Amino acid sequence: MHTFEFIRPVAAEEAIAAAAQSKTAQQGAEVRFMGGGTTLIDLMKLNVETPGRVLDINRLPLDQIEPTSDGGLRIGATVRNSDLANHATVQNDYAVLSQAILQGASAQIRNMATVGGNLLQRTRCVYFRDTAMSCNKREPGSGCPAITGHNRTLAILGASEHCIATNPSDMCVALAALAATIHVQGPNGTRAIAFGDFHLLPGDTPHRETVLRPGDLITHVTLPKPIAGSRQVYLKLRDRASYEFALASAAVVLTIASGKITQARIALGGVGTKPWRSPEAEAALSGNPANDATFRQAAEAALRDAQAQSENGFKIELAKRCLTHALRTAAAS
Ligand SMILES: Cc1cc2nc3c(=O)[nH]c(=O)nc-3n(C[C@H](O)[C@H](O)[C@H](O)COP(=O)(O)OP(=O)(O)OC[C@H]3O[C@@H](n4cnc5c(N)ncnc54)[C@H](O)[C@@H]3O)c2cc1C
Ligand code: SF4
Repeated sequence: MHTFEFIRPVAAEEAIAAAAQSKTAQQGAEVRFMGGGTTLIDLMKLNVETPGRVLDINRLPLDQIEPTSDGGLRIGATVRNSDLANHATVQNDYAVLSQAILQGASAQIRNMATVGGNLLQRTRCVYFRDTAMSCNKREPGSGCPAITGHNRTLAILGASEHCIATNPSDMCVALAALAATIHVQGPNGTRAIAFGDFHLLPGDTPHRETVLRPGDLITHVTLPKPIAGSRQVYLKLRDRASYEFALASAAVVLTIASGKITQARIALGGVGTKPWRSPEAEAALSGNPANDATFRQAAEAALRDAQAQSENGFKIELAKRCLTHALRTAAAS
């Protein structure tokens, strides 16, 4: 049986110093931070993650949601998913984020899960979660059985010949559309990472999922000032109505004036190897009439580079319809 040491640091510096001894604070590392534990402990039970030390970061002062001086919002890394989704400012000004979180997991899991942990939740690819199988993400160079195997739920955007795993997060799709920034404290100080630069495409290193460096602790996420008058929708399509990951989802933030789209921020979930912001869809929407023809053109643009695997070709049309319907709903709201 795998054994590990459980540590509860009280200061960020203490946590970072302990984690910095490790190859990396994230994937496959000897020392790991723990937020709610709903991903990490799950994977430890499966022997997919086998850290020697687990640092419980819940006593760090990172659990606040506060306004920023420029009119945006600062969200601490240990804020629970439930608290974030039900916060009045989030519901009013960043509704797409509240909707996305509430369509994920279950109430019990959302009560435990933290913002930092959700940013780093790992793929649900069945081969990744089964140590009897090979998997390039878990064991670099061992192969990717999903490409010729069970890939119905896996990615159609951003895949490589080494990994086709989907990023499973709902929250991250909304954060991509909201142009969030992730703030990190590491052994060499603090830095801010634009949301679109945080997650990595698999390429030939699918075991590297983010730009985090050894010892990095996510301290908080910031959202820019809300877009006045924006209409926001998160639509998630899945095999059953609750407690299920997305087959396709769309986060939409739109402004419309005189029947024309003046601003659009679009991201897709359930289809990409990372939370998938779509500049192609945004370009197809901006300046055009807010009608079904424009919405469908945007969906075609967003999925233009999609590549089907043996079982997941249905996702291409599903994702197009998901985005078209989300746009229609936002425009009518
Ligand atoms: C049954 C089930 C169903 C689910 N359904 C959905 C769903 O439909 N949609 C969805 O989006 N999600 C779903 N999830 C996933 C869930 O959202 C994640 O497990 C959760 O968000 C992870 O948060 P956590 O705080 O528990 O992470 P943890 O397990 O504590 O940590 C996850 C990872 O993040 C690292 N970490 C945590 N905090 C920090 C930090 N501050 N800095 C650096 N590293 C950190 C940990 O070391 C670990 O690698 C589901 C989970 C389960 C178990
Ligand atoms: S898709 Fe990625 S996570 Fe799944 S088996 Fe292949 S390498 Fe592993």
